[in-house]
Amino acid sequence: MPRDLFIYNTLTREKEKFEPLVPGHVGLYVCGPTVYGDPHLGHARPGVVYDVFVRLLKELGYKVRYVRNITDVGHLENDSDSGEDKIARKARLEELEPMEVVQYYTIRYHQAMALLNTLPPSIEPRASGHITEQIAVIAQILDAGMAYLVNGSVYFDVEKYNKTHRFGILSRRVLEDLMANTRKLEGQEEKRFPFDFALWKKASPQHIMRWPSPWSEGFPGWHLECSVMSSKYLGQVFDIHGGGMDLLFPHHECELAQNTITRGKDSVRYWMHNNLITINGQKMGKSLGNFITLQELFQGTHPLLTQSFHPMTVRFFILQAHYRGTLDFSNDALLAAGKGLKRLLQARRVLAKLSVSPEAAVSATLQEMEEKIYQALCDDMNTPIALGTLFELVTWIHTASDSARPVSQGDKELVERIYSRVVEGILGLREEGDNDRLPLIEGLIDMILEFRTQARATKNWNESDRIRDRLSSLGVHIKDSREGTGWEL
Ligand code: ZN
Repeated sequence: MPRDLFIYNTLTREKEKFEPLVPGHVGLYVCGPTVYGDPHLGHARPGVVYDVFVRLLKELGYKVRYVRNITDVGHLENDSDSGEDKIARKARLEELEPMEVVQYYTIRYHQAMALLNTLPPSIEPRASGHITEQIAVIAQILDAGMAYLVNGSVYFDVEKYNKTHRFGILSRRVLEDLMANTRKLEGQEEKRFPFDFALWKKASPQHIMRWPSPWSEGFPGWHLECSVMSSKYLGQVFDIHGGGMDLLFPHHECELAQNTITRGKDSVRYWMHNNLITINGQKMGKSLGNFITLQELFQGTHPLLTQSFHPMTVRFFILQAHYRGTLDFSNDALLAAGKGLKRLLQARRVLAKLSVSPEAAVSATLQEMEEKIYQALCDDMNTPIALGTLFELVTWIHTASDSARPVSQGDKELVERIYSRVVEGILGLREEGDNDRLPLIEGLIDMILEFRTQARATKNWNESDRIRDRLSSLGVHIKDSREGTGWEL
């Protein structure tokens, strides 16, 4: 019997107890990247947030099917229905085949996600691999009378849809209000109504990515792919759909409308949205000069950065905020995150060295802490509260270490279990870079210090000093005190 999990459903604006469609199984769809440029800071947050969510579901005992798409066609500039395809544009500028652009940036995206220690999705479908399915759904929407054909392009009839259903139900927008604030846009002449959106676009002569269809040679609209691929891999109705808040309107609103027409109701039972990252209080944008790619961040090469930041620091930084809250990026915030992460992981090494008494007894304080951590994570994935409690645990470890009294075997095992299941398992936090070998290095230094202690015991001061000087030249500084010998790098 898994522990109760509560998630905030964007549709109802309420925290709801999660009840999967099929007991023990979860179907999760998350909108993936449009692969026409290097992955940036904006990709890191959903990448990490849904990774922790999947890890949490697995820890709770669910079998998870995590589908995250790759958009490789149909996403036009400015997210509109009139600009150039983002990938085709890049291909034109770089003199490449569009699929070369897709391949190159998909690999870059995967590399960045792996550095952030996110697990790959169970299925990663591409829009261009599902043209047949998309054509079938367009035909269905046309048959239902909810779309119209103009010059070989097919548009979803939002005005008509809004008469029987409410368009804007997810983002709580009212179509009439939206209309009042809208001017007629250039290049939208084919649409009967400004909020209609393309299901199929007829390709202009110079457009490279094109497929035959009953209406014209062209390409599918961006909003359609997610409706089609989610139902193909997760079923007509499925558990959870996630994505960034920037996708709420119009992307997810359009998905919901398409689903409703083809299935009689929305396919999604819980809609989840992560908030965005701002940079020094500003929205990230190329025109603002604050657009930071993940590579620039990990290598410290962007002019706004004072240094490079390790992917694990970035991961920890993201988890310090609740996924629905805002998160402001700055050098200082990242530096503080790096320190916090180090403190959290260092305590595990202190834990390993605590002396232990054989009792199995487990203290109530530690049990309460463990419970509090799981409760926070199951309460709409409240990672800041979970991390706060983990730092109480860090204090417990240091207090135990300073007191030099042995801890019970049961206590030590419990704390070790929290580190392996929560810190490593759910939060996916691990040592940075070369520090993967830190336990080995520490073991070797401790061993060398044992030789030095033996030398001192036999008053072999020459040998003792030689060891100290050699270690010092390697950057290991020894401190002798009454309690024994300590060291630091
Ligand atoms: Zn999507």
